[in-house]
Amino acid sequence: MPLPEIQKAIRWHPPSYDIRVEDVPVPSIQHPDDAIIKVKLGALCGSDLHVYRGHGGAMINNKIHTCGHEFIGEVVALGESFGAKAEGRPALYSSLKIGDKVVSPFTVNCGECHVCRLGYTGRCPDGSLFGTPALEGGQAQFVRVPKAGGTLFNLSNPSTWSSAMPESLKEQALSKIADSSLLMLADILPTGLFAALQAINHPKVAAVITGKPWPLCFSQNVTTGNEVSLLESDKVLTVAIIGLGPVGICATVSILDILATRNIPFRIVAIDPNEARREKVKAVYDAIGPDGKGTGEFAALSIDEAKIKVNEWTNGVGATAVLEVVGNVSALELSFELVRTFGVIVSVGVHGESLLPMTTRQIYGKNISFDFGRCPSRAMFPLAFDILVKRQDVFGKVGDPASLIDRIVDFSQAPESYRAFDKGEIGKVIFDPWK
Ligand SMILES: [Zn+2]
Ligand SMILES: [Zn+2]
Repeated sequence: MPLPEIQKAIRWHPPSYDIRVEDVPVPSIQHPDDAIIKVKLGALCGSDLHVYRGHGGAMINNKIHTCGHEFIGEVVALGESFGAKAEGRPALYSSLKIGDKVVSPFTVNCGECHVCRLGYTGRCPDGSLFGTPALEGGQAQFVRVPKAGGTLFNLSNPSTWSSAMPESLKEQALSKIADSSLLMLADILPTGLFAALQAINHPKVAAVITGKPWPLCFSQNVTTGNEVSLLESDKVLTVAIIGLGPVGICATVSILDILATRNIPFRIVAIDPNEARREKVKAVYDAIGPDGKGTGEFAALSIDEAKIKVNEWTNGVGATAVLEVVGNVSALELSFELVRTFGVIVSVGVHGESLLPMTTRQIYGKNISFDFGRCPSRAMFPLAFDILVKRQDVFGKVGDPASLIDRIVDFSQAPESYRAFDKGEIGKVIFDPWK
């Protein structure tokens, strides 16, 4: 079926705060590895706001482009690389078909370089970010996906990815989950889960989690030579999560799930100055079934309340792990204030040009680790899919107090949705390009 020539797209105009819905050409195959996707739903994300506010950097600020890096849709055209002959390349070059339902990570990744093979797909040297001047975004009726065999996640063919679930359960789950829910795989759920996994697997939390002091916490078999024994209270992991937008909520749900599954005692404080966001995370926490939140303490607090709470919980020592999901200097300052000595700050917020708001002496003086950067979303998909299936009580609905997605709107509401999301007046918005 031939594609139309003109489509509707949500476009950013310089210098800032100017979003327009425009008629633009439908993309075509430019390279044999390309796929064209008919977008079913495209989402608005916190990191779209960096572009919206004109923080994209002086060099690129003047290029009008289609926004959005979160989309789900159907394959409508494939380049010549696709087909049975694609040997020695990522599986989708052989198996992806016209009509398949796919979700894309927010970055392109080739899937066949050293960086991608190690799972660091968000930093593929051939990668680029959708919804920037470098690559037209997914808030459109059609989008071109470069390196599509390495980038896309084929929801029509669950045998193309690994899962803790048996094949039959994967298929059953896929048939039940709404597209609006599957769209969370594009960015926010993998990114939230990434933040949680980085914290839980960091050497700085090992003493607390294993109940063995540093450095014995790294030895499997050492039981003797341990001249100190930890108290039960030493084995409680204290975590602060800063920023309760959609990614912060995904990080909260993810870390609760990991701690519950592994039976690790915990105290979590989820922090945001915006009361509506705190209410949202409380509703989410209440909605999570017992299999996903364990028996630890959980509080959603303002900044000042959180400082007092962490002090009280830890006798002034501080949180072992801080998840920073905002991406600005004041969030880093708060992270540094809340983190304990020998703690870790995991930062997945998208940062601008600022320098770190603390000196190297201060960092040395606290023995802390920083873990910064973009989520390798494509590599995280299988794990994120499993938690998406498990937590349909949170990720399954639209517009409930406990649901992550606030509303699904048509393109005409894009300018107002950007404005209201930027002001923190609404939660996650999804655009339906065909409504
Ligand atoms: Zn995003
Ligand atoms: Zn690569």
